[in-house]
Amino acid sequence: MPTASPRPTPPLPADPHSYAQGPALPHLRLALAVDFGQQTLAGSATWLLAELLATATPLVLDTRDLTIGQVVALDSKAARAGLASAGTAIPYTLTAPDAVLGQALRLELPAGTQAVRIDYRTSPGAAALQWLAPAQTAGTHPFLFTQSQAILARTWLPCPDSPGRRFTYEAEVEVLGSERGQLLALMSADNPQTTAPDGRYHFRQPQPVPAYLLALAVGRLDFAPLGDHTGIYAEPTTLLRASYEFAALDRMVAAAEQLYGPYRWGRYDLLALPASFPFGGMENPCITFVTPTILAGDRSLTSLVAHELAHSWSGNLVTNATWNDFWLNEGFTVYFERRIMEQLYGRPYAEMLQVLGEADLHHTMQELGPTSPATHLRLHLAGRDPDDGLNDIAYEKGCLLLLTLEQLVGRPRLDAFITEYFARFAFQSMDTDRFAAYLTETLLTPAEASQLNLPAWLDGPGLPPGAPVAHSARFDAVAAALARLATGTAPIALQPITTEWSSQEWEHFLRGLPPTLTATNLGRLDEAFHFTTSGNAELLAAWFPLALRAGYAPADAALENFLRYVGRRKFLVPLYRALLAAPGGRARAQETYRLARPNYHSVATNTLDALVLGEAH
Ligand SMILES: [Zn+2]
Repeated sequence: MPTASPRPTPPLPADPHSYAQGPALPHLRLALAVDFGQQTLAGSATWLLAELLATATPLVLDTRDLTIGQVVALDSKAARAGLASAGTAIPYTLTAPDAVLGQALRLELPAGTQAVRIDYRTSPGAAALQWLAPAQTAGTHPFLFTQSQAILARTWLPCPDSPGRRFTYEAEVEVLGSERGQLLALMSADNPQTTAPDGRYHFRQPQPVPAYLLALAVGRLDFAPLGDHTGIYAEPTTLLRASYEFAALDRMVAAAEQLYGPYRWGRYDLLALPASFPFGGMENPCITFVTPTILAGDRSLTSLVAHELAHSWSGNLVTNATWNDFWLNEGFTVYFERRIMEQLYGRPYAEMLQVLGEADLHHTMQELGPTSPATHLRLHLAGRDPDDGLNDIAYEKGCLLLLTLEQLVGRPRLDAFITEYFARFAFQSMDTDRFAAYLTETLLTPAEASQLNLPAWLDGPGLPPGAPVAHSARFDAVAAALARLATGTAPIALQPITTEWSSQEWEHFLRGLPPTLTATNLGRLDEAFHFTTSGNAELLAAWFPLALRAGYAPADAALENFLRYVGRRKFLVPLYRALLAAPGGRARAQETYRLARPNYHSVATNTLDALVLGEAH
């Protein structure tokens, strides 16, 4: 409800992580050849301008580790024809490389320019790209995937690499060499469902997206439909398991649309990647990339898919203007994710997710300290790699702000506000100040605004007083089981209670075990509940630190195997920490890391090099 006369909308902030400047670039034509032998992408990026330039105009794009060939200005005729030979070569310069931001590509577009084509190739070490050898996949072919968020798109194409700059795109991708005709290429766009015998693929993304949502994957992949507009791509040996795991995908999309309005991206498919993928999921438009570590066999870890799906609204539709506003992407998405899970599986299930999330938040806040500016929702990441500054705070404190609003104004009003917010700012950027102004003007009465104390949430440390605290009745039963264990009940005697437990209850149980357990204690637990041989990565990741602390040797081989196979940073960081802290653990951690490192994406090794090898980057 309006409470004040309209204030002028605050201007969007400049992005401290992008050099890009110059005219609007509303459309990209990408032409790339994928060379597994050389581990490079080579081709051209053609940026179309909104209008013909009346005067000579400077243009600056982001690049990192790219080899730039020719830069060619195209007039409107040449731009339409799209001929490789058309246009006029123009000079350019690259600034000295910055370790985080890369190099600015500077050029001056002559009057009469309609488009600019940049010929280039990537380097084999390009940070966004992970080239997997056949042994690193579930099959017998190599694999390539990209991870562009936060500022890695510039390592595989020259672009305005800021979340505040959007463009539509089309792409021609050709697979070279002996893999031609064997591998399927997919992008964050309209996708093929079968492998092309000539190795050529054409993609189109008609909705404007920021560069961090550009994505490419090339591998031996099959497709299985899950609904009329949903499906799953996976390596052939994983496809059956993956289609079982994600059977509820159609219902998830329906639940999301029912909550906050239409899905705007055409199809919604998933791509189950090899295990070296550094994240749980990446919300690439039309095709979420997911880690296979959520293939638990019992559909128990699919809230991650609800999260990535929710990003189709919060993040992909309304996008954080800079990485300082990351909480706008993630806080909304965590809240939305839990609403989807509640819709599908009921409130008690969503409550468990909320309690686990809050536990993560308190853990992170403790690590960062009670006055740390890193616990503010609004971040100040200038001069840093944004990827190092993004943590649980944006996700869980952001979600708690929305839960606080829910308490304050009630669900019906909050839901109407969120639906309107997604519709009104669709395909636009949002920053913290603009959001605060919109929230205060559109949703809150003055009394509600003063009760909320938004500045304390946005620019204050920790949690403001009055932040809601989640409670889960299902976790009360877990607490009761833990209490019985503590008073001497044998683990095996708990089985009648635990048979119906979900992955979340087990996770809560493992987190609640006292740190004083001995190897003998763990042996009894393992005998009763088979943690070491679990197929559930969340449970393994909670179990191994206990085993390391107690020196429970029967878990060693499973831990080594996990670290060699899984590249998901969320698991790796605490596990390597636990390994480093174990007696004799440093040498063991370094030896394991040496063997496993080739299987990890740069996003993970960036963090782990410093942690395990003690190297700053
Ligand atoms: Zn997210």
